[in-house]
Amino acid sequence: MRRVYFDNNASTPVLPEVLQAMQPYFSERFGNASSIHHRGQETRAAVERARESVAALLGCRPSEIVFTSGGTEADNLAVFGLTGALPHADGHVITSTIEHHAVMNACKLLESAGCAVTWVPVDGRGQVDPDDVRRALRPNTKLITIMMANNETGVLQPVEEIGKIAAEADVHFHTDAVQAAAKVGLDVKRIGCHLLSLSGHKIHAPQGIGVLYVRKGTILRPMLYGGSHERSRRAGTENVAGIVGLGKAAELAKQSLDRGDMDDMGALRDKIEQTILNEVEATGVNGAGAARVPNTTNIYFDYIEGEALVIALDLRGLAVSTGAACSSGAIEPSHVLTAMGLRPERARASLRFSLGKQNNSDEVSFALNLIPETVTRLRELSPVYNKQTVSK
Ligand code: PLP
Repeated sequence: MRRVYFDNNASTPVLPEVLQAMQPYFSERFGNASSIHHRGQETRAAVERARESVAALLGCRPSEIVFTSGGTEADNLAVFGLTGALPHADGHVITSTIEHHAVMNACKLLESAGCAVTWVPVDGRGQVDPDDVRRALRPNTKLITIMMANNETGVLQPVEEIGKIAAEADVHFHTDAVQAAAKVGLDVKRIGCHLLSLSGHKIHAPQGIGVLYVRKGTILRPMLYGGSHERSRRAGTENVAGIVGLGKAAELAKQSLDRGDMDDMGALRDKIEQTILNEVEATGVNGAGAARVPNTTNIYFDYIEGEALVIALDLRGLAVSTGAACSSGAIEPSHVLTAMGLRPERARASLRFSLGKQNNSDEVSFALNLIPETVTRLRELSPVYNKQTVSK
């Protein structure tokens, strides 16, 4: 069966060039990057080359790059590292109601340990108002952590304005840029952040590798203790192959952004969106009207259970996802969509389509052939769907 994959915000395939760059580091170039002999020096050189490529993508110095095990660790290191780590957390943190669980649950843990947390709301388009961030500031605010692009809707947050607010108040600013990287340009100076998270597997590098950018002079308490790896900010023998893969992916992402490839991806995304909105009644785009990354669209299909539509489409060869998280057997509506004001039924009826570099217009046509008829079939089975009373 033909299979088309439109779930690149969950994970992207490793690009052939990335795999090729990594391969020697699983076999002949196996040295520990901390060893002083030749084998160690060749892997050390590869790690430092990758650090330079990631730094070039972010517009920072290589020494400001800390390799981690992924986006989750980078987010946790930012939140706990900056607030001094548990159990003696005190002070105040500002975050939003639409963060990824890697930030959200880290902030909830801080909160349960006595640290005050302000959860800044979003508007109906899924955007934080920078004035709300400004109003939330307190004399003991230690950190503002607001994501750059949301993983479910692709909506971009006003990070540059928040960076200015943080600078004026002399407060540290972290942004989770896991879903923004390789889709829009990233410049840590323009953003004005002290900390920024990336994840390899969202940019066509492997799973299990990530980065925390740490602005020079920012003091972080490490989460892992051991050797003096990563300038004592993250102990543990480096995942050399993963780092090399991430370095190559960062290099390719930069070239692709410079070439303007994302405009083509945006056109494919727009085609998906427009066709569905035109051909399927009772649908709409969550986050419409806000600036969004070009690969993502989140669409509600009223009168349908999103999970049922994901399964029905998967049975016909199309992989997409819902924003819903499955917890203890119950389908919880997405915290992101409900924070935007969607009622639970509409949040549960929403699907995310996210494109990657490997997708093409033929795959988009394949998907657009399947979707309207699959939705119609499911609605026919729905007890709440009545064709006569449908309104957009
Ligand atoms: N932050 C965001 C916005 C994400 O989308 C993800 C992954 O879905 C993460 C953090 C976590 O990254 P990782 O899977 O590398 O731990």
